[in-house]
Amino acid sequence: MHKLFLLLFLALCSLASVCAQQNEVYIKAGHLYDSEQNIIIKNKVIQVKGNTIVSIGDFNSIPKHAEILDLTEYTVLPGLIDAHTHVLFSQDATEDFSEHSIHSLTMESDAIRALRGSKRAKSYLDVGITTVKELGNSGLFLDVALRDAITEGTIEGPRIFASGPILAATGGQIYGVSPKHQDLIDLEYRIISGVEDAKIAVREHVNQKVDLIKICADNIPNNTHLSIAEMKAIVETANGYDLTVVAHSITNQSAWNAIQAGVHGIEHGFNLADSTLTLMANKKVFLVPTENSKTYMETYSNLAGYDDDDLGWIANYLARMKNRLDRAIEKGVTIVAGSDNYTDIGGTRGESSRDMFRAYFEAGMKPLDILQSATYTSALNLNKQNELGVLKPGAKADIIAVKGNITTDFITTIKDVVFVMKDGVVYVSNPK
Ligand SMILES: [Zn+2]
Repeated sequence: MHKLFLLLFLALCSLASVCAQQNEVYIKAGHLYDSEQNIIIKNKVIQVKGNTIVSIGDFNSIPKHAEILDLTEYTVLPGLIDAHTHVLFSQDATEDFSEHSIHSLTMESDAIRALRGSKRAKSYLDVGITTVKELGNSGLFLDVALRDAITEGTIEGPRIFASGPILAATGGQIYGVSPKHQDLIDLEYRIISGVEDAKIAVREHVNQKVDLIKICADNIPNNTHLSIAEMKAIVETANGYDLTVVAHSITNQSAWNAIQAGVHGIEHGFNLADSTLTLMANKKVFLVPTENSKTYMETYSNLAGYDDDDLGWIANYLARMKNRLDRAIEKGVTIVAGSDNYTDIGGTRGESSRDMFRAYFEAGMKPLDILQSATYTSALNLNKQNELGVLKPGAKADIIAVKGNITTDFITTIKDVVFVMKDGVVYVSNPK
């Protein structure tokens, strides 16, 4: 069946109809971020044909009568990547995660969940995030459906790398559910019961066409966790299908166990000890720190009803997160940018995701290092380093432009997105 389609497609191309008429455009960039070298270069032109970058050249390389997009007043970047999203999940600041999950699993249809997710998906493009790594809490493969709907052009949104349901120990992350109702958890998590079951779970996910596997090394806020043997079985089976495995980890012990089992990345890692960070650096296990900025935390605590006199915990939280990030960078751990923002604090989901840039900046990361962690490094860890997160020949035409000086005025500039192209299609064009 596939072969037939391919032959048909090649026949169309040889008739020089579809292929030869792919739009060609030259994008003039006043400043261009080279994410591989982690430098800004001046006055470059990006030749885009269809959905692909064909060349990067100087202004004088533009042929006469070519279609030109003039972004000489701006800094042009590869489309940004958020490596930790939950597009199909949202809760209010006042809601308890567990109660909210049970409520939505029993009182919301898959249809309404997917439709709400599709609106959130669009908002990522508006802020220049053209790719997301979608890590579960998406029902039974609604993330895969959302990905496919975007890929086929039915709805607009970022490229999605979908994990399907999170593989987790008894109860998943949803605490407090009575034994009689544990089957509800199976609507949101793939509960693992032993080594053999772990292998079967990965194969089920492969069969549903996931892009990667997400596990809960620990189930915090719930109290169970996977064994090293189960995680090892998951990693080995996933590797056999060329899939990577990333692990939600809050405790230091669970991160240590997951790394021993061979996972590729640690998500959150709020309590990583120096010895674990060193192990991560040695084994090239990346970290997706999912902290929030001061502004975000203050807004959240207001909405959640915390007393204004009792905000000392925010300062403690920020200091602890800065310390963890500093130690990770110092030990040489690869940092991949990810937001994990699923609480509705006002604004769109895309705007909420963007808070990760502010958080890393406040914690002391340099602007270009933050950009690299949300472009080249992130793509590298998706095994897409030649396709995504870079502006170079052969890469997908995921290109954005921001107004301002990205190195000296990072926060204002990264928020001022004036142009967004994904896969050669322009979604935002507001030159100022
Ligand atoms: Zn998450």
